[in-house]
Amino acid sequence: MSEMSEYPDSYYAATAVGARDYPALEDHRQADVCVIGGGFTGLSAALNLAERGLDVVLLEAERIGFGASGRCGGLVGSGQRKEVLETEKMFGLERSRLLWDFAEAAKQEIRDRVDKHDIACDLQRGQLLGVHKKSYLGSCRETADVLAERYDYPFCAALNAEETRARVATDTFLEGLYDSEALAMHPLNYTLGIARAAAEAGVRIYERSRVLSYSETDPAEIRTAKGSVKASFVVLACNGYLGNLEPRVAGKIMPINNFMIATEPLEASRAEQLINGRFGVHDTRFVVNYFRMSDDHRLLFGGGENYRAGFPRDIKNFVRPYMLKLFPQLEDVAIDYSWGGTLSVTVNRLPHVGRLHPNVFFAQGYSGHGISTATFAGKVIADIRKLADVYISGWHFAALPRHGSCDVVLHDERQDLM
Ligand SMILES: Cc1cc2nc3c(=O)[nH]c(=O)nc-3n(C[C@H](O)[C@H](O)[C@H](O)COP(=O)(O)OP(=O)(O)OC[C@H]3O[C@@H](n4cnc5c(N)ncnc54)[C@H](O)[C@@H]3O)c2cc1C
Repeated sequence: MSEMSEYPDSYYAATAVGARDYPALEDHRQADVCVIGGGFTGLSAALNLAERGLDVVLLEAERIGFGASGRCGGLVGSGQRKEVLETEKMFGLERSRLLWDFAEAAKQEIRDRVDKHDIACDLQRGQLLGVHKKSYLGSCRETADVLAERYDYPFCAALNAEETRARVATDTFLEGLYDSEALAMHPLNYTLGIARAAAEAGVRIYERSRVLSYSETDPAEIRTAKGSVKASFVVLACNGYLGNLEPRVAGKIMPINNFMIATEPLEASRAEQLINGRFGVHDTRFVVNYFRMSDDHRLLFGGGENYRAGFPRDIKNFVRPYMLKLFPQLEDVAIDYSWGGTLSVTVNRLPHVGRLHPNVFFAQGYSGHGISTATFAGKVIADIRKLADVYISGWHFAALPRHGSCDVVLHDERQDLM
């Protein structure tokens, strides 16, 4: 069996670097913390906990980065899934500003990790939002002004149709917002890099070790088919792949499947004509299109989603029409890879981070904006033990950093099930 054969047949798996084969759990272990799930959330929690001196076991049902983290678009947006004008309406300026700062700290955490652990994940700087609807015209200028004035973020520039077209060769964008400090990356290689860093920091990682149950006891007992872990704390980091492991948490998110394709490599000049620079792009559609150019000049394009268990049989031909709608000039280009993944959304499209039981934490529901927020949620959970007084009885709140620590400032009990 080849090293990557258990991963989906994605462009990311085909270009993965530094994958390690971690053992399966086949006996009984003890730890301070048992993290369940080996994506951005779980790995970030595990690494940060180990760096704080805790003894951590991480159990992954399949392989590291097997879930959304190893399959996603790789666009690391600034802010939250909701634009600041929306979060201001929802929570007022002060809390909206905290949410923004939380996401800025998340981006910084990613940049720092890439540097510190020397992770080769093709980190690109910059992101363009393309506006597709006449009724949204003017929103880019307004957002850029608000971010500069109220969020100390002068890095977004509003572009008119011509300027937008000069960066991305599609006629479907009526204007654009270019954020020079957003990021884009090869997400599987980032995930594998964080796993290596976690292992080096002492985290005991087990792959092919699906958790079947855990107990709300102290210590908790976490069981897999062939082994078990006794741990003082449990972190649930399974997001869209949680299944029935914890119905109380699963009931607060809706899993969604999203799909991607990778074209054959384009001539360098053709790639440059298509996207003038190395940055991520997404648009304002409800079912968002997102794309970037890989370092070997393939267009990595995401578009289309479904809301049921199971993927379309022919993902390539499910996604390709979305790409051709934006780029009819790619009609002759072959698609080399296609794959899908499952993420999860919450009602208010904000992360769902919390404590289910005194020693059980969870983080999920990043609503398509998970690279930064999941990474940071893991870090917040690693810090939360400092806050012995934070006991959450509800859900749908955002844990935000304040003065180097974190503070739960949003807790909206009105949020109900989807
Ligand atoms: C196609 C696609 C495109 C996306 N594009 C973007 C994007 O461009 N930008 C962005 O910010 N976000 C994007 N997202 C969302 C982002 O990928 C997710 O929010 C993020 O990866 C969530 O990370 P996670 O660690 O919480 O979950 P996951 O990465 O899904 O990890 C959960 C892990 O838990 C494991 N697991 C589940 N149950 C068990 C169990 N019982 N025992 C042990 N392990 C278990 C799974 O195997 C899985 O590996 C996209 C998602 C998809 C699917």
